[in-house]
Amino acid sequence: MRILVISDVHANLAALEEVLADASAFDWGGQRGFDAIWSLGDIVGYGPYPNECIRRLEAAAPDHVRVAGNHDWAAQGKLDIDDFNPEARQMVLWTQENLDSHSFEYLHSLPSIPLDREKFTVTHASPRHPIWEYITSTRIARENFDFFDTPYCLVGHTHVPLLFRLAFDAKTRRLSCTGHLPVADLDISLVGEHRLILNPGSVGQPRDNDARASYLLIDSEQEVMRFRRVRYDVEMTQAAMRAAELPERLIARIAYGW
Ligand code: ZN
Repeated sequence: MRILVISDVHANLAALEEVLADASAFDWGGQRGFDAIWSLGDIVGYGPYPNECIRRLEAAAPDHVRVAGNHDWAAQGKLDIDDFNPEARQMVLWTQENLDSHSFEYLHSLPSIPLDREKFTVTHASPRHPIWEYITSTRIARENFDFFDTPYCLVGHTHVPLLFRLAFDAKTRRLSCTGHLPVADLDISLVGEHRLILNPGSVGQPRDNDARASYLLIDSEQEVMRFRRVRYDVEMTQAAMRAAELPERLIARIAYGW
């Protein structure tokens, strides 16, 4: 199966459209496109098109695999938004006011526990704490390897594409965890890999100083994957945010990928 893995779309429709177009045209060596979409959460929040993004995702793959993110929870009033910074809080309130009933039902239906699909565990933040934990270090990643049973785990939440590998270290004769910043557009083979935690980065609000939308393609039969970056019309999203009078700092940051 060829899988398009997306996370943290954050209501950025222009970025989502570009990712879907890029993944649809992707040439796997004879075959094009993808068979399934796996969405790791935070489809809403920050951006100006929450309803449109949910509908676009449903149209692209009605049976897409999906889990809840912290912003998906916040939009339903399931989280205390005092934990959010003032701009994020303003965005939560705006999203709550602008969600239609279909979107609200969609968000309400999102599972908040990790899912097992093929050799992958699918979750938003981490397998240990699916909604909130940020896997930002090898220490946190190492601890989380004990919280899932499949060989691989897919997480989002940090908005930074990352790969953590758990492997036997011949020198120390122990399992050790290493972190890697994946290079886009290189085939990464899963053959011989034992355990990985993979983060596809963010479609709608990348935070690694690269404004391009980030996502991951996996061919589970060929056991190969590819991180991808794709340019999208940032100014279109910014214009819609300005028209909705969203916070200026949030409008500015998507141009920098931060
Ligand atoms: Zn997010």
